[in-house]
Formats: sequence, C-alpha cells, structure tokens
Amino acid sequence: MRPRRTKRPTLPSPDEIYGGGVTGNRMRGEFTYRVDIHEALQRRHERGMSRIDDAGYWRDGNGHSWRVPYGVRAAFGNTLTFSQIASEYPFYVQWRHPSKNGGPPRTLTRSCSSLGAACAFIVAHLTDVDPEAFIVCRLGFYIPSPLLGKFPRRMGPQQKMHYWCPRCMAPRVFRRTSGDQWFYANKKILTTDRHGNPDYQWKNVRLALIECTRCGLNNRDNKFRASNQPVTKVKVRATRRARTTRRRRR
Ligand SMILES: [Zn+2]
Repeated sequence: MRPRRTKRPTLPSPDEIYGGGVTGNRMRGEFTYRVDIHEALQRRHERGMSRIDDAGYWRDGNGHSWRVPYGVRAAFGNTLTFSQIASEYPFYVQWRHPSKNGGPPRTLTRSCSSLGAACAFIVAHLTDVDPEAFIVCRLGFYIPSPLLGKFPRRMGPQQKMHYWCPRCMAPRVFRRTSGDQWFYANKKILTTDRHGNPDYQWKNVRLALIECTRCGLNNRDNKFRASNQPVTKVKVRATRRARTTRRRRR
C-alpha cells in the first residue's frame, strides 16, 4: 500500500503567530521553538522569486510591472535570520508621494510582512506614483556573494562613489551626517607584505560617519562594514587526498 500523503501544515494566521513584545510585532513565545512554522515562513520568503520573470520583472494581472532590482532578487535566495522570522514586519517600502497642494513630496513608508508582499505592493500601487520606490530590509542582508569586494566603487553618469547598502539592498551614495561625527572602526588598508607584494591588513582607523541618502543607514553598521571591504583571493593548492583507511600493521 502506498503511504498516504501527509498534508503540509498550514500556517496559523499572523494574529496567532505575532503579538508579543512591547509593540506587539514580535513572535509569541510558544512559536519560537516551532521548526515547522519557521520553515513555512522561509518557504513563503523564497516563493516570491517565482513571481519574477526571466527579464527580472514582477507583473500583476492589471498591466502593472516593476523591474525588481538585482539586490532584491538576490535577497529572495537568502536564509532568513531568527530575528527576521520573529518579526511580523521585517521589511518596509519607502517612496516619495506628491502632495496635493503643490508642496514638496512627502516621504511615506509601509511595513510589509515579506519581501514578496513588498514587491507586490510596489507593483500594485507605486509604479505610477514614484518609479524610484524601494524596499528596505530592517535588519539588512549581507552583500550578494558575486558582488563581494566590488564596493565601494565609482559608478553612474557622474562617477560618484557608491557603497553597497545592506538595508535597501542596492549601491547607494552615502553622505556625511549633520554635525561633525567621527568614529573608530576596523578597515582593510592596502600595504605590502615582506616579499613586496600588495597585501591588505586590518587597521583600526578614524572614519567619518556617513549615511545612506535613501534609507539612512550609517557606516557603523556591521553588515555595511563587511559588505564594503576589498577581498583578496586565496589560491588553494590541490593537496593529496588524505588516506582514509589505516594501513594495518603486519
Ligand atoms: Zn540604504
């Protein structure tokens, strides 16, 4: 007899899962050890990728489409951290909304429960309002591995210096914060090794505080620091395979 196919557990409603913490947006205590719930939330996160076509567009049925930026597409492949799973709204969408009385546009945000929901919100409501609307991951993702070591770099029509922003998942221009703020952090500095070859070394240096012109993340963030350092390639020499069976003593 064929084993009966077991039904995949359905996700309880968000009202049941979340509601803890001071703000009520944290996972309730009884779900923090539920592996099945965590896996279901991870599947929900990864499922968003299936809505993006080969050209990188997310389309809805009403003729709206949005080109999903590379950083967001790469983020769909990430494993969510426990903090992201335990938060009801780990993402938000930010955009500039034109004001009715002709004043300057207002900056608005909307919290989203998943990356896919954030994309769907932009496609449904913002493609005509602000073409530069973007998604922010509150806790940030590390830079996608193909881009590791490529930032900071000069790019764009004016060749401005861009850093990878782990919160809005894109290359961004960073500016000095208001006020003369400095801090100390570790940074890779180009030096030469004892053979005279170029070599990077970590040094504790004084740095100016700068922040993302879009989402406001500053360069003290550890994901920012890890995402914007040079990377050296290490050649791994092929070694002889280790002997797996011990030679018997005769
Ligand atoms: Zn940013």
